[in-house]
Amino acid sequence: MNLVEILELNARKFGQKDCLRYNGAGLTFGELNDKASQAAGLLQSWGIAKGDRVGLMSFNTPAYVIAYYGILRAGGVVVPINHKLQAPEVDYILAHSRAKLLLADGALAPVLAKLGSPVRRAALDSDVEGLDRFEALLEGAPPAQPVAVADDDPAQILYTSGTTGKPKGCQHTHQTVLFAGITGALVVKMDFRDRLLMAMPIWHSSPLNNWFMGIQFVGGCTVLLREYHPLHFLEAVQQEKCTVYFGAPISYILPLQMVPHFDTFDLSSMRCWIYGGGPISGDVALDLMKRYQSENFYQVYGMTEAGPTGTTLFPWEQVDKAGSIGGQGLPGADVKVMKFDGTPAGAGETGEIWLKAPSMMKGYLDDPQATAEAFEDGWYKTGDVARVDEDGYMFIVDRSKDMIVTGGENVYSKEVEDAIAANPAVMEVAVLGRPHNEWGETVVAYVVLKQGESADAKDLEGFLADKLARYKIPRDFLFVDELPHTPTGKIMKYRLREESA
Ligand code: ATP
Ligand code: MG
Repeated sequence: MNLVEILELNARKFGQKDCLRYNGAGLTFGELNDKASQAAGLLQSWGIAKGDRVGLMSFNTPAYVIAYYGILRAGGVVVPINHKLQAPEVDYILAHSRAKLLLADGALAPVLAKLGSPVRRAALDSDVEGLDRFEALLEGAPPAQPVAVADDDPAQILYTSGTTGKPKGCQHTHQTVLFAGITGALVVKMDFRDRLLMAMPIWHSSPLNNWFMGIQFVGGCTVLLREYHPLHFLEAVQQEKCTVYFGAPISYILPLQMVPHFDTFDLSSMRCWIYGGGPISGDVALDLMKRYQSENFYQVYGMTEAGPTGTTLFPWEQVDKAGSIGGQGLPGADVKVMKFDGTPAGAGETGEIWLKAPSMMKGYLDDPQATAEAFEDGWYKTGDVARVDEDGYMFIVDRSKDMIVTGGENVYSKEVEDAIAANPAVMEVAVLGRPHNEWGETVVAYVVLKQGESADAKDLEGFLADKLARYKIPRDFLFVDELPHTPTGKIMKYRLREESA
């Protein structure tokens, strides 16, 4: 079945049931199905045909979901675009994906106005002068012409976060997306009674494919929060009686720090708290379980390429294996850790995580070389380095691109960063290798100090002296006002590397 057929099936089974909730109002599966059909008709009248790519750039709104299914029903391919990107970044994705049309929320008009791309634009759900208003035109749209869509036809081009270089376009089909959804649904055992809180950006691979597609597969309801906000997040759980949530670790931490009456919220409807997408220490994870008064915490690990299905740390493993990303692949997925000499890593050893999953992309768009480099014997080489414990559980230590080799010793940047970050004067730190004639590389730290704090290189060296081996201690500390971040908050070390080379 393709993704549109799942929606049609739900419209038959659960026609009167809410598929979406937004600002206290509902949209049923029947209504969504009708609107998606109108959207397909409108897009076809604009010349969108099978295989055409359409950029979709918006907050979490019903219009996003209607447009998403409209594009797919017209036979098109969705190119989800991060709504926080600036004009040159959006231009890059539009040009690289050769998008024919961009559907964007009207609130993004200032960025749209700066785009150099000649692509046709329409405003999703508010008025923007000079742009077609998508939602207002739906009613009068001509009927959609049926388009035959096969399971292995392309459905999405999903761009990576751009942490290690330019974002890469991952090609996903209806089938790989559906597999990602089924995996998500299986992992937390969703059914039609579940209510998924969508507070993370819906354009991101895990919210879109593991969780939104997962809940669509079982006919459950999605509660859309236009944008994440620590207070609105708690209010939505309480008012909408949500049962499942996926979010970045920070989305769990902010409510604790910023909402003084956190403990007065009734979060008892929640049966699965899922976090992932970036590193979290075992201590922080255990603390979250205490503060949210729940043992039902799941950690997921994955990447855009894999749809992003990868591994899970289940609730019953959280305490014994705190800080691990799990011991095995998700249902249907296989995982192994390979040492850099090409043999499997044993207990206590470290290597690169390799993945096989039915939700794996069909390759990078227009980049056969990068695709060939990323795969070996059908395994996707993730570029993430993990240590394996005696029970086969994996603990991420670094990205292979961030590993530093100095004088023949391997230094994991994350280990050094964690040690420096433990200094109370330090707000944020990035550690990387700088090319060196004799040593291969030397260790360099970029440090941002907290407001009003002072520390110099000597202080930090002294701080690290009894915590890290000599060769791991940075030779150079560079104090800066801020570090370059991706729009999803990850540090772009390649930028620092270019600068320090
Ligand atoms: P790019 O590939 O463009 O450099 P990116 O790898 O950051 O960017 P994503 O696909 O959004 O783009 O992120 C996947 C990466 O995020 C993984 O390869 C891993 O490094 C990190 N990651 C994901 N989940 C976890 C997790 N649970 N714990 C630690 N790291 C994680
Ligand atoms: Mg990546």
